[in-house]
Amino acid sequence: MKIMVAIKRVVDYAVKIRVKPDKTGVETQNVKMSMNPFCEIALEEALRIKESGLASEVVAVSMGTAQCVDTLRTGLAMGADRGIHVEATGALYPLSVAKLLKALVEVEKPGLLILGKQAIDDDCNQTGQMVAGLLGWPQGTFASKVVLDKENQVATVDREVDGGLETLSLDLPAVITTDLRLNQPRYATLPNIMKAKSKAIKKFTPQELNVEIKSDLEVVQVTEPPKRKAGVVVSSVDDLLDKLKNEAHVI
Ligand code: AMP
Repeated sequence: MKIMVAIKRVVDYAVKIRVKPDKTGVETQNVKMSMNPFCEIALEEALRIKESGLASEVVAVSMGTAQCVDTLRTGLAMGADRGIHVEATGALYPLSVAKLLKALVEVEKPGLLILGKQAIDDDCNQTGQMVAGLLGWPQGTFASKVVLDKENQVATVDREVDGGLETLSLDLPAVITTDLRLNQPRYATLPNIMKAKSKAIKKFTPQELNVEIKSDLEVVQVTEPPKRKAGVVVSSVDDLLDKLKNEAHVI
């Protein structure tokens, strides 16, 4: 079985986000970019499944500007067998990404498609659900544990929900999106970084996949959150209780 993993290039999680002066989005020029953390978890899970003998190949795919190839190289250095880059220069919203993924699934025919539960740049949390809908495949979102039964072609997925753990049984092929506690992604070692340079990355354009990139959605404005007001030091517990009661009105 082949596993396809969608990995997105985003502003590194440790970077302090700056809004562009014209408020059209966040600054990405001269900013450290990395693989979306939930996508690292998705790739790690695919690699573990392959290492346990339940999959034969892991294909990492990424959509966006030419620099996505760097992110794919990181994925290849972690252990993915090959990469696919769909080059698109404009804004890519989840429905467009889901359509591109569906087209790639039709080309590659994986038994499992794994995505992060959300990209930390736009926090959409939509792509996995949309591509499962477009493909008509079962979906296990926010997975905190994945167990594959190759013989019966079933994936058992634990999901952390408000009231506890929900366990789903999905017939393969299926879509899984990963939550934070699923695993701890590995670091790429130097020899694997070197090896990754010779692994194949195939290129597609959206036109070649018969996908029109358009959106019914327009970002009107991006603004910084309001600045937090300075706190005050209270002199006693009585003072604190008085402020909570009479100023903050929370007790
Ligand atoms: P989102 O729905 O935008 O929060 O993204 C959820 C997941 O969809 C990400 O963690 C990725 O696995 C996948 N994804 C979204 N955008 C892209 C992209 N441009 N390239 C590759 N994967 C993507």
